[in-house]
Amino acid sequence: MKMDGKSVFGGVAMGRLSIYKKNDQVVKRTRVSDTEAEVRRYENASEKAKEQLAALYDKALKEVGESSAAIFEVHQMMLDDLDYQESVTNMIRTQGINAEYALAVTGDNFSEMFAAMDDDYMKARAADVKDISNRVISVLQGIQNTELDSEEPVILVAEDLAPSETVQLDKSLLLSFVTRFGSTNSHTAILARTMNIPALIGVDFSEDIDGHFGIVDGFEGTLYVDPDEETIEKYRKKQEEEKEKARLLQELKGMPNVTKDGREIKLYANIGGVGDVPSVLQNDAAGIGLFRSEFLYLESDTFPTEEEQFNAYRTVVQTMAGKKVIIRTLDIGADKQVDYFNLAHEDNPAMGYRAIRICLEQPDIFKTQLRAIYRASYYGNISIMFPMIISVDEVKRIQEIVDEVKKELDDHGLAYGDVELGIMIETPAAVWMTEELAKEVDFFSIGTNDLTQYTLAIDRQNPRLDSFYDAHHPAVLRAIQMTVENGHKGGAWVGICGELGADTALTENFLRMGVDELSVSPSRILAVRAAIRDCDLSK
Ligand code: PEP
Ligand code: MG
Repeated sequence: MKMDGKSVFGGVAMGRLSIYKKNDQVVKRTRVSDTEAEVRRYENASEKAKEQLAALYDKALKEVGESSAAIFEVHQMMLDDLDYQESVTNMIRTQGINAEYALAVTGDNFSEMFAAMDDDYMKARAADVKDISNRVISVLQGIQNTELDSEEPVILVAEDLAPSETVQLDKSLLLSFVTRFGSTNSHTAILARTMNIPALIGVDFSEDIDGHFGIVDGFEGTLYVDPDEETIEKYRKKQEEEKEKARLLQELKGMPNVTKDGREIKLYANIGGVGDVPSVLQNDAAGIGLFRSEFLYLESDTFPTEEEQFNAYRTVVQTMAGKKVIIRTLDIGADKQVDYFNLAHEDNPAMGYRAIRICLEQPDIFKTQLRAIYRASYYGNISIMFPMIISVDEVKRIQEIVDEVKKELDDHGLAYGDVELGIMIETPAAVWMTEELAKEVDFFSIGTNDLTQYTLAIDRQNPRLDSFYDAHHPAVLRAIQMTVENGHKGGAWVGICGELGADTALTENFLRMGVDELSVSPSRILAVRAAIRDCDLSK
């Protein structure tokens, strides 16, 4: 069977198809006759949940380090807590109800109890106790967790995937994404590029393909289900060819990003979290040009604390060992929704209450993040940039808040390093104001994903408009040109961190415009380096 869709990232993947089931648990209260058997059901599920947590702990320890892994240990201990266990088993025994319901009620009760405590650490456990209860309920209901219960890597097939879901998936078990909805410019598509796995959207699949063997052709945008031997053989060959191309690109490691006539440009990588840093180093990027810090918020059930953020930022800068790391402050809103922000429904969220607008209206959230970043700056080379800027006034207000944060750190004797401050140029208003804005900041980073959306008035999330979303539109290219010229005039260096930066059809144009830096998905670094080294600007 062959199904056509649209490619968001090339490559070939072969493996078992796994339909992603959203983890929205519906817990019904039912009566059970054999309460002792129900208690055993609960105990077995709790053991299984602990095994999952132990495996997650080991994995996190390897990938993100001790401090981030610790939470899985805490969760295991919470499942062993006698008060918690007694609450569940007593409810089953005295009320004759099912384990799922007893867990849900216990989770809610304990969560309320923790939330009411004075101690911040205990308060933060409110979300954890709900989390562990949901985990055991998932085991009882046989629901796949967002961590993917599979032992082997799979091709994940889903209706749609929100950034908050993709961020929680176990990346080592993903061969490819295939979705029915979603758009080429969505953050899920960006994640596929970061992970260097083929991804398709717009595939009209049926549920019964779950568990079947599939092939994703990320070049043609096709999904094959139970293909014949000939097709399998064809794609085996294609995979080999791809491997060979990747091997050739590997030879560019350690080489400078310099054109034939000697023009050099900086090549950095975009990341969403600590787990992406190894691929930045493997692909030989000279730094991180965009750390989408909002993914720390998306991964969490409550506001990440200053300490949690500090640990994440410090791990990244220390691992980058002196190389530049540009952290973009919280860009929540639009498609990146987080429940605990309690953002009201908006008819037009991409033009709504998001990013710097939230930070300026809720300075406590903003300052917590800035303090964490400044403290981490002591351990390496950090720059900060601010998203969705439209005016000089905003930048002045940001500078005041930054000064307040620095003063607080000084007052507490906390050290921090020299931090360059920049802004993202991703609204037409910012482009028109670049002359004035350049005098206020050290650098500009052009976010072409949003800049294209706002310049062309095309919702980047709407797949119906994919054919109109033309990032090569002269209006977008002129906006980039103007940003570079005005940036340089005002003494700011200028980079591009949107997806267009990795478009090798434009590499020469960007070099001719005088762009100073390109920041691209780690998987695109070497391909862009090859394109730079192919250019001769003297011709
Ligand atoms: C952009 O808009 O180009 C950008 C880099 O930011 P994001 O894709 O995270 O909105
Ligand atoms: Mg953006």
